Amino acid sequence: MRLYTHKEALAGGGLVVLAIIIGAAGNALGWALFGAALLGLVHQHRVLANFARWARQPLRRPHLGNGGLQQAADSLRWSLLRSRRRVGNALRYLVRIRGVTEALPDAAVLIDGDGDIEAFNQASGSLLHLSRQDMGGNLGALLRHPEVVSLLKQRVPDATIEIGSPFAEGQRLELRRVNVAADRDLILARDVTHLNRLLSMRQDFVANVSHELRTPLTVVVGYLEAIEEESMDEATLRHLVGKLASPTRRMRALVDDLLMLTRLESSPNPKPEDLTPIDVKELVDRVVDEVAGLTTKQHRIERRMRSDLRVLGIEKELHSACSNLITNAVKYSPQGGSIDITWSSNGGGALFEVRDQGMGIPPEHLSRLTERFYRVDLAGSRVRGGTGLGLAIVKHVLKRHNTQLQVESEVGEGSRFYCRFNSDQLQPHSPAPIEVENPAPALRRDATAS
Ligand code: ADP
Repeated sequence: MRLYTHKEALAGGGLVVLAIIIGAAGNALGWALFGAALLGLVHQHRVLANFARWARQPLRRPHLGNGGLQQAADSLRWSLLRSRRRVGNALRYLVRIRGVTEALPDAAVLIDGDGDIEAFNQASGSLLHLSRQDMGGNLGALLRHPEVVSLLKQRVPDATIEIGSPFAEGQRLELRRVNVAADRDLILARDVTHLNRLLSMRQDFVANVSHELRTPLTVVVGYLEAIEEESMDEATLRHLVGKLASPTRRMRALVDDLLMLTRLESSPNPKPEDLTPIDVKELVDRVVDEVAGLTTKQHRIERRMRSDLRVLGIEKELHSACSNLITNAVKYSPQGGSIDITWSSNGGGALFEVRDQGMGIPPEHLSRLTERFYRVDLAGSRVRGGTGLGLAIVKHVLKRHNTQLQVESEVGEGSRFYCRFNSDQLQPHSPAPIEVENPAPALRRDATAS
């Protein structure tokens, strides 16, 4: 880039020539040249003053009055504008990245090679209790956990540890070290308490199913081996084959319950068009007949049913829930016990209730009753033919019908299992009196496994 343009060089040269001519004509060459130099200096001063003014706000267009300097200032201005745009873009990008890291549910902490904190996101506050004062502090020293200290020391790429949170009892944290630059690492921490619980629930579930199936299967295999190995007359054979019925029924009940539960858990919630008005009175009558066919226990089953109240639901699911509750009432009540089943209007909605005067449930078990395979008395439940899945099924059915199973119980006094439906879950009806039926006929065969 030239300091002067052609025009400026010509003008400068012309001024000198003019000064020489004028100076020679007037016999004052020195003065003339001095005058020309002075004019040149004044011009340069103006250019420099313009430059200084422009330099204070270099993003404005420069008007310097000097071609070379003007060009230099122009290109400086353009490169400034370009860098400003680049910095602006980088800043916007940073703000976006920051927004993303702030929104992360996991903690992200940037540390240097010594484990000192350089930056962290919002979730680090709740998960790792980091605050502004901790900036620059050492993460290992702040968390005071030997495994964290060794994670920070390790140079293993993508190393991961799981620790009990030093801040919240029972909380499990997974910390992962990710290398992001030569001397920079990101420590990502997330709460894995829920995930761990799910994993252990899955393990428990598989172990429970295997165990529940293995017991009757062992019985079946035992009888089959006896039949295979020993020669026996037809009567003995029939007797032994008869022994296979109970464990086989038990396995089928378990598989049926498992399939039902899996279907309930994996199906999307029913849409309004899937629901039909269910005659709960008719449904309960049917269930009582079915249960009566399975037990020899003598029970008084009293029904107080509103025949006009119909709940909008899925018949098969409500049948299963109802059947489990009534079967339990029979199973866990002694011979001759009373069972009351009520379907009544309740504060604009409706109440379904199964109440027995059976053995009752100790209070510490109440909150866990609907867990899969949870039993108050494992042996007792098995003897009574229980799978440990009945109340889990009831819970899911009711959840899919926007209501909740409630339990009240007192040891030695009995139990009350009930749920409420809102008015919008009922088919519009015309009021009718409560029907009280005579006690159901004595129940016959026993549902217990042999
Ligand atoms: P199960 O097949 O063992 O009956 P459930 O899921 O139906 O499994 O019930 C879970 C546990 O709740 C039962 O094992 C039993 O201990 C208890 N339980 C359920 N209903 C009653 C009841 N009406 N009275 C007393 N205990 C009950």
